[in-house]
Amino acid sequence: MLPGPLLIIECPFCESQIKMRILASWNTINAISWSDGKIEAPMYREEPKLAKCKKCKHFYWINKAKTVEKIHWFENESSIILLNKYNKIGYIKFPTINEYFESLNEIKYNQKYIRLQIWRLYNNYFRKIKIKKLSNEKQIKYDENAYKLISLLDPKKEIEKIIKAELYRNLGNFNQSKKIIEQISTEYDDIKIYLLREINKLNKYTIKLHAPIKLSDNVDINSITDEIYLLDCEIAGTYYQKINNIYSDLIEGEKLTLKRESNNEYDNYAISVYNQTDCVKTE
Ligand SMILES: [Zn+2]
Repeated sequence: MLPGPLLIIECPFCESQIKMRILASWNTINAISWSDGKIEAPMYREEPKLAKCKKCKHFYWINKAKTVEKIHWFENESSIILLNKYNKIGYIKFPTINEYFESLNEIKYNQKYIRLQIWRLYNNYFRKIKIKKLSNEKQIKYDENAYKLISLLDPKKEIEKIIKAELYRNLGNFNQSKKIIEQISTEYDDIKIYLLREINKLNKYTIKLHAPIKLSDNVDINSITDEIYLLDCEIAGTYYQKINNIYSDLIEGEKLTLKRESNNEYDNYAISVYNQTDCVKTE
């Protein structure tokens, strides 16, 4: 798990600033995947997507907020100056269950994500504290959230059918859960077997799956609500190659060629980056 740059982002309502650490690379080796889509892995850390501003109390999507500074961890003096400059600013935190509920009054876009987060947070009571019963008040909120989430799911998407079946199982409606599982494509037979087994045992709690629920080879269940970066790669040496002069020649999505440069005079492990017209060369 490689740390990426530290971002300083700004609340779109009051411009108060907050820090956010992102990962440059991660993987799901040795991951534990749960039937509600939660993934726990040594080399993976989920990032918050929604923030509540501490100052003005508004909610906002982090990817829509302005990044005012990007501090690279490997850089030297300039990074230290910036770290000192933003020393007093705190780190962003995941909203609590109550804050997610509160956010539904303000945020109308992608409530599916918010309700998925609420569902998984409630499931943590069974997952982490291993309690068997929620308080009446919590159970009412759990059920209400589950039904609302069911209504937001896309009936045509296989992965959302799995989530729907899981929600019904968690609600104790085993017949409905079974009915939905039977309509899911055979591509997900391994997961279906697990879930049907729990239905037969009349177990309504979230369970561990051996492998993450996958949409395809490298996209996991979270991608139904998130845009995910599979890899964000820092390029060193851009200062010396005057990258500002060649930015205008770069095209988003263009294929780059990486070449080892073992005879590089500063670094035997240097890798050069070229675009199609060879106008970029950096290590
Ligand atoms: Zn604010």
